Amino acid sequence: MALLTCRLCRKIFTAAGGRTCPACKQRLDELYVKVRDFLRDNPKLEANVESLSTSLEADIRDIQALVDMGYLDRDLKLDSAGEETDRQKLALEFERSLNEMKSSAAAAPQRSAVSYGQQLYSDKGRRR
Ligand SMILES: [Zn+2]
Repeated sequence: MALLTCRLCRKIFTAAGGRTCPACKQRLDELYVKVRDFLRDNPKLEANVESLSTSLEADIRDIQALVDMGYLDRDLKLDSAGEETDRQKLALEFERSLNEMKSSAAAAPQRSAVSYGQQLYSDKGRRR
């Protein structure tokens, strides 16, 4: 059996098909589940190694290891940097402000309808 140095914790371990020792492998497996869930719950977040490590309070090297080992290939588009990302961000902000406008526009007539109704009710008899 070949001995390898774990790329994460530098421990010597017996190679069993991975580049990390069993302890790190298990930690990465658990972290991957967290990252995947986090990305699923925050689909609009501009996720990168740094923001993921901050959000999940995980070691940035562990997140990077997940990326390097291809765990997050399907979940994370790390290559989309620069202009494209800025445009996406702008589009997201635009969408968000649209949604805010929509929700306040939806709430406004509802509020006035209620007060109008209350006014009608309380004024009933006095003005008519
Ligand atoms: Zn290790």
